[in-house]
Amino acid sequence: MFGSTHPRARKITLIAAAGLLALVALIFLVSAKARFVVGGAMVNAGYRLQDPIHDYDFAHEDARPEEVWKELINQNRMAASVRRKFPRSTHHPLVAIVACMDARVDTVELMGDTRKYYYVVRTAGSVLGEHEEDMLELAVANGVKVIVLTTHTDCAAEKVAADGEKRKQYPHLSEGIDEREKRISELLARPTIADKIAKGELLVKRVMIDTTTEELIATDPPSARSAP
Ligand SMILES: [Zn+2]
Repeated sequence: MFGSTHPRARKITLIAAAGLLALVALIFLVSAKARFVVGGAMVNAGYRLQDPIHDYDFAHEDARPEEVWKELINQNRMAASVRRKFPRSTHHPLVAIVACMDARVDTVELMGDTRKYYYVVRTAGSVLGEHEEDMLELAVANGVKVIVLTTHTDCAAEKVAADGEKRKQYPHLSEGIDEREKRISELLARPTIADKIAKGELLVKRVMIDTTTEELIATDPPSARSAP
């Protein structure tokens, strides 16, 4: 037991612990990477704390719409009050990510990065419309150097498009999935986009997100394939 330890051994243990703590604090202060990694770990710890809580605000499945809305506003008020006290820095993103609206895909968790370095375009099935193409072109004009076009495993939109009966019920979504590649070709053919790609000023990468692990798996055409 600690209480029965010899006073000298106890003193040495305390000094060692204090030294270790000081070393960790020093590394933390001087190393941006350490701060980034520890910050990511703390965000992850926060996710893990909240993730198993399913019934503190309401019984998930039985909640009435008004209850859900009220809770959403309550949570926003709490989050905004923290943000008022601790404002965040802003940066022009260097990366634009196109992702499906599937809630299991979390674009913060994808990179473990909370610094808002990414423009995020979320649409059903990651299908670009003309609005999104315009928006991505604007993002590139504002300094984006990498566009990441994603799909993901177990995509509900893709399942609808592959099911004859469901296609009848959701014709626009199905058409969108059918035209996904065509829309990507349209984006890549836009003069400003094509020009930047040709000059090596813009990289467009294609990846599939493993919905369970959120790992990015390269799906570029074989000629352009490399680690994502
Ligand atoms: Zn999806």
